[in-house]
Amino acid sequence: MPLISVGLYPLGSCTMKHNPRLNEKLARLPGLGDIHPLQPLSTVQGALKLMDELAHWLKTLTGMPAVALSPKAGAHGELCGLMTIRAALDQRGEDRSIILAPDSAHGTNPASAALCGYKVKSIAVTDGGRVDLAALKAAIGPDVAAVMVTNPNTCGLFERDVIAIADAIHAAGGYFYCDGANFNAIVGKVRPGDLGVDAMHINLHKTFSTPHGGGGPGAGPVVLSDALAPFAPVPYVVHGDNGFELVEHRADDAGNCGRLTAFHGQMGMNIRALAFMMSHGADGLAQVAADSVLNANYIMASLKDVMTASFDGPCMHECLFDDRFLADTGVTTLDFAKALIDEGYHPMTMYFPLVVHGAMLIEPTESESKQSLDRFIGSLRHLVAEAKAGNGTLFSGAPYLAPLKRLDETLAARKPVLRWTESE
Ligand SMILES: *Cc1c(COP(=O)(O)O)cnc(C)c1O
Repeated sequence: MPLISVGLYPLGSCTMKHNPRLNEKLARLPGLGDIHPLQPLSTVQGALKLMDELAHWLKTLTGMPAVALSPKAGAHGELCGLMTIRAALDQRGEDRSIILAPDSAHGTNPASAALCGYKVKSIAVTDGGRVDLAALKAAIGPDVAAVMVTNPNTCGLFERDVIAIADAIHAAGGYFYCDGANFNAIVGKVRPGDLGVDAMHINLHKTFSTPHGGGGPGAGPVVLSDALAPFAPVPYVVHGDNGFELVEHRADDAGNCGRLTAFHGQMGMNIRALAFMMSHGADGLAQVAADSVLNANYIMASLKDVMTASFDGPCMHECLFDDRFLADTGVTTLDFAKALIDEGYHPMTMYFPLVVHGAMLIEPTESESKQSLDRFIGSLRHLVAEAKAGNGTLFSGAPYLAPLKRLDETLAARKPVLRWTESE
């Protein structure tokens, strides 16, 4: 069994990174770990400088002029971006009510839009796994506030029509929200600002390696275009006469969207993300993107002859398979994933995205070696062979070797046992 802190963790969409111990050490430095947000500003100049520095990296990497650091997760960032869009529309006196999002969108996209008071209209995805541009254009109208598109998308593909999408929504007076959860595939290579994006969240706990799982904490800073920057949430870190200051109003403030959190968001994540950026450097971050794409394509190419890849051509940082290769074996995606636990791996993401049947979304971390990828590929090929040989019991009762066996997931959801005692 690989150690959980070093083994391959192929959870697609979630971008399970190596969390370098250096990041943890820096986040625990007493001068950072022990400060309080209500301390006098003169005593926390270093922390404010750190936030300013992180903001500079995020703006530079995305080619966007402004960033709000306070959102505490990707979904919270989506809410933040949509609130700035609403504030911008309010200022124009426009009451648009619709957000367009493709069928392949992560569930948080429609949820955030609904929370912000919008109606969500789904746009079809083509057989090639990308947004149907014609359907999107046909749906754009004067009542559309924004389109939300993930790029690279949840099928692991780059949306090649991204500039046409931006142009179409801008021509109709709406905004382009990009879900940037997959930014790790293009960081240092492509700047979303150059693609016409107005707002995009960046999951520091995905692209920039801060820990996640177990509900957080995460961090979802939102970069904003010139059109939306004046509506960013407060507070802002600015460089004033007496060093760094936190301000609630700026000269160009055009009706900001308010406050997203108490204080300033997840400071510990800011420290870890900046440590990751500075230890890689700009060239190292571009290498992160290149290696993550290379690793995913290596896995896809090595398994394509035995598992069914959902789409033709190369993928970005994650590769998508579906359950067609399991037809007539009696083995489901769930069984297959559970059997992977017996091979010593956390399963890949299952049944997401919803646009393919029985999805298995595999995302290898860029830091995995060829040996580690080969070992994982070997385990999958072994499982496929067993399934095709009719060895169903290897799957139906899996996992056999884990401390907890197959759980009744319906019961677990309906009657969760949140406290476990020896007697149970
Ligand atoms: C992870 C993810 C989100 C949500 O981010 P959280 O930080 O979990 O709130 C949104 N969209 C996509 C595509 C994601 O992978």
